[in-house]
Amino acid sequence: MAVTVVGSIAFDAVKTPFGEREKMLGGAAVHFALAASFFDEVRVVGPVGDDFGEAEFEVLRTRGIDVSDIERVPGETFFWAGEYGWDLNTRETLDTRLGVFETFEPKLSQAARDSDVLFLANIQPDIQRAVREQCTGARFAALDSMNLWIDIARDSLVSAIGAVDCLVLNDAELKQLTNMPNTVKAAREILSWGPPAPNAVIAKQGEYGATLITAGDYFSLPAFPLEDVVDPTGAGDTFAGGFVGYIAANGGNGGDEQVLRRAMAYGTALASFNVEEFGTERVARLTGDEVAARVQELERVTNFTDAPVTLRS
Ligand code: AMP
Repeated sequence: MAVTVVGSIAFDAVKTPFGEREKMLGGAAVHFALAASFFDEVRVVGPVGDDFGEAEFEVLRTRGIDVSDIERVPGETFFWAGEYGWDLNTRETLDTRLGVFETFEPKLSQAARDSDVLFLANIQPDIQRAVREQCTGARFAALDSMNLWIDIARDSLVSAIGAVDCLVLNDAELKQLTNMPNTVKAAREILSWGPPAPNAVIAKQGEYGATLITAGDYFSLPAFPLEDVVDPTGAGDTFAGGFVGYIAANGGNGGDEQVLRRAMAYGTALASFNVEEFGTERVARLTGDEVAARVQELERVTNFTDAPVTLRS
């Protein structure tokens, strides 16, 4: 079993009310891979530029991530700069430089093509589709995207969504994509697009958690209650890494609601570590025991079945 991920491999410049970093390792595929590596073998597909050094590769290798599908090409690594508002709920993108992604045409190794689980992390939808087409045997595929691609490449994004089992977007993006003002309605609209269409939609809701919507069911978890959040960059990708990684390790094609629910819990736990420090800093030295403890605590804080029921008719 193995998970292949394609998406941005980046340098990020981030400013939050609690500090800033001018150039740190980031990117959707990187955050995803670090989280998913707690469950299964992970292969990262994508290009990096001349500026991507051994120290950055080492962060991935230390977690056992297979970097042989990362191509080094002349040019600059993808660069993103963003700044957060005072409560970290708003974020402004200050700069996006695609760099080596501008001309990237993915050619997956046989091992990556043979992966049984695939994650199309945030990047141009044309690249996501090209990878999906090379990895047709995957038993479970999921996709994340963002407002930029809904704005400038909507048709390509819609066809990419039609080729996966699960769509992961934030609330606002789901509403923007469907032009619907309600998250549940927007998700059910996407589920009805097919065939082919995903059979699960996850709405990421930042500090408020995440919601899973399937044709006949609904499940929601709050974010893990943290008092000190330092940098939310990559929280969504880390959530996806925990979610998809759990499904990779525990079988299935996303059709089992109970598997999806537990996967949500792992995604939530992993994401909560990611936001405690800048970039990949916290997750890079995380342990499996810490993840397990946080999932257990999440179960406790969301449980309300142990008290008696008194209800008048
Ligand atoms: P998140 O906070 O989960 O939305 O993910 C932030 C990560 O996404 C950062 O590490 C960025 O490098 C990366 N990112 C930002 N904008 C883009 C974009 N247009 N395409 C792909 N990745 C991006």
